[in-house]
Amino acid sequence: MHKSTTTVLNQILLKPSFCRQISTEFFNQPLNFVNGVRKTPTSQNSDEDFKVFNPAKGEVICETVSSGVKDVDSAVQAAKDAFPEWSRLSGFERGKILMSVANRVKERGEELAELEVYNNGKPIWEARVDVQSVIDGLEYNSGLAPTISGQQIQLSGGSFAYTRQEPLGVCVGIGAWNFPVQIAGWKSAPALACGNTMVYKPSQFTPLSAILLAEIYKEGGIPDGVFNVLQGQAETGSLLTSHPDVAKVSFTGSVPTGQKIMESCAKDIKKITLELGGKSPLIIFADCNLENAVKGAMMANFMTQGEVCSNGTRVFVERSIKDKFVEKLLAKTKQMKIGNPMHEDTMVGAMINKQHMEKVMRYIEGAKQQGAKILCGGERIIPTDTSLSNGYFLSPCIMDNCTDDMTVVKEEIFGAAMAVLTFDTEDEVVRRANDTKFGLAGGVFTSDLTRGHRVVANIQSGTCFINNYNLYPIEMPFGGYKQSGLGRELGRSAIDSYTQTKMVYVEMGDVDCPY
Ligand code: NDP
Repeated sequence: MHKSTTTVLNQILLKPSFCRQISTEFFNQPLNFVNGVRKTPTSQNSDEDFKVFNPAKGEVICETVSSGVKDVDSAVQAAKDAFPEWSRLSGFERGKILMSVANRVKERGEELAELEVYNNGKPIWEARVDVQSVIDGLEYNSGLAPTISGQQIQLSGGSFAYTRQEPLGVCVGIGAWNFPVQIAGWKSAPALACGNTMVYKPSQFTPLSAILLAEIYKEGGIPDGVFNVLQGQAETGSLLTSHPDVAKVSFTGSVPTGQKIMESCAKDIKKITLELGGKSPLIIFADCNLENAVKGAMMANFMTQGEVCSNGTRVFVERSIKDKFVEKLLAKTKQMKIGNPMHEDTMVGAMINKQHMEKVMRYIEGAKQQGAKILCGGERIIPTDTSLSNGYFLSPCIMDNCTDDMTVVKEEIFGAAMAVLTFDTEDEVVRRANDTKFGLAGGVFTSDLTRGHRVVANIQSGTCFINNYNLYPIEMPFGGYKQSGLGRELGRSAIDSYTQTKMVYVEMGDVDCPY
């Protein structure tokens, strides 16, 4: 679509046939959601226009503009205005509203999943898992909300102190494009449970599902202004993170952007949570259950087209079983069905955009030149369904004979490209596993549970798996060591990160004053 033909910037122009359940009205309204209504950005700067794609067809869904200063101010103001009333509710009252929202998400879950497939390209079964994770987050935090409480501390002479766990105020959530609805849910559920309000900015590539989520929140009883969505690119993000009325930023994205956000937040000493990239190790010992280890390696590399921050992309296999492992892995990987992400049996959908697909292909080409053996995949697939021939489909790739110094072993690729490495001893593999600036996740497959616990204790990562990979129950705190992040999402930890502690001293006697 050329700009000249776009008379309705910021309007969704194409409604896919498979999104039957979503009203046409949803597709014909502006993309910001502020104070309970859909709004068109007012601060239009033509340099900041961007197109939104359906990755499976490679076609433009709509063109929009990035929200500017006025939009950011009005969304933050809406969240600020909504804060006093929302934060004064009891945790129990907020919990009941979150439970009602969870029920509404259940009713409209399939719509959210379809929209996610439309805009992200991941297979429908995975989108359903993401939506379920949003529901889990709402239910879990609705249960935690009434339990948010302080302590009472006895002091000398009958005096005492107590603490209050108070919300922070207006929080900003900024998300990546790989798990659009899940990230929006994971950030907003605990933030709102604690009594905060939120302005959420999705990635420019995946703006749609957060708006539908905001509408569902409203239907479930979230008051206007408590959860707002602003569309935009880096400029909008930086206007939000530098806004003086914002108390906290929770960010999911790359390390370089995380560094910028940290700098921006340093000015006002804003609280931050950073969920950043990874290059996680998966260690497979010879005594493992081989079938499970192969499945684990696939779970660690191929979900959402490999665009997963916690993926175990460095697969270290003990030398004595390497050939057997690779043989089984290759057979299973070749069976993965690639294509229409709306089909129930599709295992590999479309990558987020052409640039990213080409970047992943360049990484694989580079691996070849550095001596890796490509066992399968890494090729663009043109599906037989001609409506998908411009889609960004890439076959899952296994790279054998990898060594620690190769670029594909050192850098986050963010695509389905698994590097297989061999090792001989536990000490050696742990040292190599930790030889990275990242520390998001890690895993080990072994039948020797003593060794399993010993190895994960020595892995420098925020999330570790023994005999499985990439499972994120809502009760588990999730986050990274080293450059993979700061703070934790999910679990009780998220509640800690969205509240602050106030201490109140209560004098029960006279003031003992030397003056
Ligand atoms: P980016 O860092 O490029 O972008 C993330 C978000 O930040 C987007 O909404 C982006 O807007 C916005 N943004 C960009 N610049 C700024 C800025 N200066 N100030 C404020 N906001 C800004 O990451 P990607 O979207 O490309 O996501 C991929 C990365 O995310 C990978 O490294 C991956 O590992 C990581 N990730 C981490 C997860 C975790 O939980 N640890 C989970 C998922 C992904 P725009 O889209 O317009 O550029």
